[in-house]
Amino acid sequence: MTRDLSTRILHADRQAGVEHGATHKPLHIATGFGYERAEDLAAVFQGDRSGYVYGRQGNPTTAALEAKVTLMEDAVGTVSFATGMAAIVSTMMALLQRGDHVVASRFLFGNTASWFNTLTQMGCEVTLVDATEAANVEQALRPQTRMVFVETIANPRTQVADLEGIGKLCHARGIVYIVDNTLTTPALFKGKAVGASLVVHSLSKGICGHGNALGGSVSDTGLFDWSSYPNLLPAYRKGPPANWGLLQVRKKGLRDLGGTLSAEHGHRIATGAETLMLRMERACSNALALARWLETSPLVAKVHYPGLASHPQHARAAKLFRHFGGLFSFETVDGIDPFDVLNALQLVIKSSHLGDNRTLALPAARTIFWEMGEEMRRSMDIADSLIRVSAGIEAEADLLDDFGQAFETLEMTK
Ligand SMILES: *Cc1c(COP(=O)(O)O)cnc(C)c1O
Repeated sequence: MTRDLSTRILHADRQAGVEHGATHKPLHIATGFGYERAEDLAAVFQGDRSGYVYGRQGNPTTAALEAKVTLMEDAVGTVSFATGMAAIVSTMMALLQRGDHVVASRFLFGNTASWFNTLTQMGCEVTLVDATEAANVEQALRPQTRMVFVETIANPRTQVADLEGIGKLCHARGIVYIVDNTLTTPALFKGKAVGASLVVHSLSKGICGHGNALGGSVSDTGLFDWSSYPNLLPAYRKGPPANWGLLQVRKKGLRDLGGTLSAEHGHRIATGAETLMLRMERACSNALALARWLETSPLVAKVHYPGLASHPQHARAAKLFRHFGGLFSFETVDGIDPFDVLNALQLVIKSSHLGDNRTLALPAARTIFWEMGEEMRRSMDIADSLIRVSAGIEAEADLLDDFGQAFETLEMTK
C-alpha cells in the first residue's frame, strides 16, 4: 500500500539515510567538499560520479529538500533556488534562446509578469493570453513556441487556468509546459496530474509556511521528451533523456546564474514542509469561511475565491484540487475605501506575503500591482478596491470576529 503523502513527507529524509541516525537531515554549512583522490574530484566534475563540489551547485541539506519536493510532486528530480523568482528566471534563462516564443497566462504573479517584460527585451517573444481557456493558448502558438507558462490559481484574482486542456495541447505539440503550483502546493494538486513538464514553486510561501525563509524550486515530472528539445547543449545530453532538461537547468540556471538556496533556508523550508498538509487544510477552510462570510456583506461588491459557487471556474477547481486554496480577494462597494477596511482589522496583518501561518491582507492595486500601471491592471482584472487576503491557520472564529468588528466599525462611520 502506498502511504499517504503526509506520512511520506515526514519520513523522506530518513529513507535516504541520515548521518548518525538523526531524525532530521542536518544543516550542512560547508561551502566546499574535498576528496581523498584527485580522480574522484575529477569524476564528480565530469558528471561520472554523484557528489558535491562547490556550494553554489547545492549541498546535502538543499539536496534533501530537493528530494522532498521531488517526492511531493511525484517528479523525477528538482533543482532548488534562493527564491521563487530565481527558480522561474533561471529555468527560462537556461532553456530559452533568442527568437524563442513563450505563451503565458495574462493573470500572473506581478513579478513574473515583470520578468516577461525583461525576457522580451532580451530577444524572446512573449504572448499573454487568458489561460482559463485552452483555445486561447492554442491560438497564440507559433512554430517557435517553446514554452507555455501558467499558474494553478492566479494571484490575486484567483482565476483557475484550463490546466488539463493546456496540458493536452502542449503534449500534442511537444511544447514545454510549466505550471507554477505555489498557490495550490502539492497538498492540493500535483502538476503531473495535468501533464506539466516542469512544476515551479515559491518555497517561501505555503511549503515553508512560517514566513522565515525564502526559496524556490523547479521539478521535472518526467513527462517531457527532452530528446526533441532543440536548445539543449551536447554536454547535457547524457544519460536518460528524462534528466536532460533539469541537468541544463542545474548547470546553466543554477551554477552559472548563481541564485543558490542557502543551506539554512533550505533546512527551515524542509522543516516547514513537514506540516504542509495539516496547515493547508486549516488555511483552506479558513479562506472558505471568510469568503462565504464576505459574500453576504453589504459592503462587499465581489468575492473571488474558487471555493465559491459564484466563481467562474468553481467546477474545474473542485475537480482538480483537494481544497480551494488559502488565498482569496474581494472588492469593496463604492464609497468604502479598502484602506479603511484594512486599517480596521486588528488581528489580520497588513503584509504582502502569502501562504504564511498568519492571516495577511493588502490593497493589491496600490501595492504589488502599483508599478505596472492602470492599463495593465485593467487587463489583469484588478479593481482599485481589490483587497487580497492570504488565510493563515488561526482559529476560524477569531478571523470571522476580526472581519466582523472591522465591518461594524465601517458601517458606523459610513
Ligand atoms: C511569491 C510567488 C512567486 C515568487 O516567489 P519568491 O519566493 O517570492 O521569489 C512566484 N509565483 C507565485 C505564484 C508567487 O506567489
